[in-house]
Amino acid sequence: MNAQEIQRAAVLGAGTMGHGIAQVLAMQGVRVHLFDVNAEAVQAGLAKVAVNLQKGVDRGKVTEETRDEAFGLLRGVTTMDDACEGVELVIEAAPEIMEIKLSVFEDLGARLGPEVLLATNTSSLPISDIASAAAHPERVVGMHFFNPVHIMKLLEVVRADQSSDEAVECAMELGRRIGKEPILVTDSPGFASSRLGIVIGLEAMRMFESGVASAEDIDKAMKLGYGFPMGPLELTDLVGLDVRLSIAEYLHSELGETFAPPRILRDKVDAGELGKKSGQGFYDWTER
Ligand code: NAD
Repeated sequence: MNAQEIQRAAVLGAGTMGHGIAQVLAMQGVRVHLFDVNAEAVQAGLAKVAVNLQKGVDRGKVTEETRDEAFGLLRGVTTMDDACEGVELVIEAAPEIMEIKLSVFEDLGARLGPEVLLATNTSSLPISDIASAAAHPERVVGMHFFNPVHIMKLLEVVRADQSSDEAVECAMELGRRIGKEPILVTDSPGFASSRLGIVIGLEAMRMFESGVASAEDIDKAMKLGYGFPMGPLELTDLVGLDVRLSIAEYLHSELGETFAPPRILRDKVDAGELGKKSGQGFYDWTER
């Protein structure tokens, strides 16, 4: 496994994360098979990459040559035979459902030799459990990218119980190759980013709930006082209150009371106030 020598990769799942992962790999000269069980999702993913690359050109951040070369390295596929053909790396970005991850890794384990690095982009599921579904689980790691992938610098590389040093080092080096800043995290609930981010988000909700300050002022405190680019309540609205609730419930069950979801979060989700996507969360997005 040598990250600098990887020439061909498969990205499984062409949704929000998969298309972005495919893009950043292709921009560094990696030939990418972008696979999805849904043929329309493959086409939509490729179209989003084309838009991203063109925006990069319009903003002077991507050359026309890079745009054309990167796009030329992408191939949309709808069978696992085509996805896995000749690849040295697979990054899975399928839905956050354990049964799907397990069946994908079992399949990959049967198809690909131990020299192929297998990574999952899961944001919360235990990597060690996912790895155990694959033959040669020592080549499985977490590679947790952030949305939008072509812009966000952070990459959490997660070491599963079984991960070999070689696999971890390869994932870290690959992260650097594709322009990310990798951090190394042990497989534990919420890794580093979600665990810390959610604590701040939940505490901001409790403060809002008990009338400490308005949503705007709580967010302003963290933006102006601590240099956050976005306040914790605004960020919750963007991520989705339902998404944050399910992460909080999982971390609560694994790590204890610090992560107990506040009443206001449950009430808002029950009322369909899911944040930006529903028009209402801690802010009214219909007027923003
Ligand atoms: P998404 O729903 O946008 O895309 C998932 C895609 O996977 C869909 O197009 C679906 O058709 C496809 N799919 C379903 N079953 C599949 C299978 N067996 N093989 C391949 N593809 C399959 O989801 P997303 O937001 O891109 O999330 C993907 C993964 O990335 C999840 O594990 C999620 O937790 C993680 N993640 C998401 C974000 C985010 O902000 N959305 C951030 C970091 C990590």
